[in-house]
Amino acid sequence: MSRNIVPFEKKVWLATPRMHGEEEQFIHDAFAKNWVTTIGENIDELEKNFTEYLGCRYAVGLSSGTSAIHLAVKLAGIGPGDYVLCSDMTFSATVNPVAYEKGTAVFVDSEYDTWNMDPEALRKAFALYPQAKAAIVANLYGTPAKLDEIKEICDEYNAVLIEDAAESLGAVYKGKMTGSFGRYNIISFNGNKIITCSTGGMLLTDDEEAAKKVRKWSTQARDAAPWYQHTELGYNYRMSNIIAGVGRGQFLHLQEHLDMKKAIYERYREGLKDLPVQMNPYIEEDMTPNYWLSCLIIDEDAMCEQTRDDHTPHYVHEYGKSCPTEILETLMKYNAEGRPIWKPMHMQPIYKDNPHVQVREHSVGEDVFRRGLCLPTDINMTPEEQDIIIQIIHMCFDK
Ligand SMILES: *Cc1c(COP(=O)(O)O)cnc(C)c1O
Repeated sequence: MSRNIVPFEKKVWLATPRMHGEEEQFIHDAFAKNWVTTIGENIDELEKNFTEYLGCRYAVGLSSGTSAIHLAVKLAGIGPGDYVLCSDMTFSATVNPVAYEKGTAVFVDSEYDTWNMDPEALRKAFALYPQAKAAIVANLYGTPAKLDEIKEICDEYNAVLIEDAAESLGAVYKGKMTGSFGRYNIISFNGNKIITCSTGGMLLTDDEEAAKKVRKWSTQARDAAPWYQHTELGYNYRMSNIIAGVGRGQFLHLQEHLDMKKAIYERYREGLKDLPVQMNPYIEEDMTPNYWLSCLIIDEDAMCEQTRDDHTPHYVHEYGKSCPTEILETLMKYNAEGRPIWKPMHMQPIYKDNPHVQVREHSVGEDVFRRGLCLPTDINMTPEEQDIIIQIIHMCFDK
């Protein structure tokens, strides 16, 4: 392994947008027709693209994935005193909308197979909170959760399943697209997702009444009256026809992005196979991930000493061993961006009093957070740049 690695002149990012040209044409079209608002052909067409692609009957374009989750939580009827069983290891946007509605999120531990919500832990959570009205499951880093088992358990308890497919657009579970398993499903078009509108999101469902409510709530909940009349609380959550134009252009290149993400994952898997690490796992027979982020987890016996309090990480390097903090700091030194694994919600100061359910003696989420990290997975990164990233990771274990 060469030790003469010099820092990247141009930063290697975690995940950045990749534009193709059509995006600008659709924006231009919105300008030309003067639909510079939250109505127009770009929104209609983008919604149509996704009902067809995901196999859901209705889609509503919204201002973000978070606003889509918020409206899904409202559709599920969550209010003060209601429990919602949520993925523990995820981005805070998965669970914050429960708090917006004054419900109580119960955090359900992850499993090692997929890093997603453990169906067994979900079953235990329902046994403890049988009155829970809904569950929100996230497909982390583009790997599907065991969605059929999770759906079955929710059905058993008459709870609404909300699927947070913000990270997993294009991923398939047992022949069916993620983002189509829940009663309400959400996707995100944030700038670092597999395709982007710059910002934006969408709610998908087969329930026509629900889709109508989302359209109404997202545009200030106006009643059908000759003046501004409101019987329900409204929001300004609708997608703009301009950003929908970006999405329409991006949609044409979704498959290309999926292929590039997969190639990055496989290059890492090959390049890191001699190290005591594993790539983020999935179940090959059942799943085609979208490989949104390539992650790795360090074998327990190859972990050097690492401590993390609420703000500052520390580590002590050791020959043949490493830890996420060391790898992330080293990547940064060479001008490349990795990220820690999502810090589980039960470890977050804001959610320290919420219930947390696990089936093992230790929390799987805590363990993955401690030993795992996200690698630069930018589709604008070249294979040569990725090879240097792989060398840098080797260096962390060598010295
Ligand atoms: C990005 C993301 C969201 C939120 O989407 P925004 O469009 O950024 O609001 C929600 N859940 C998960 C798991 C995400 O990664």
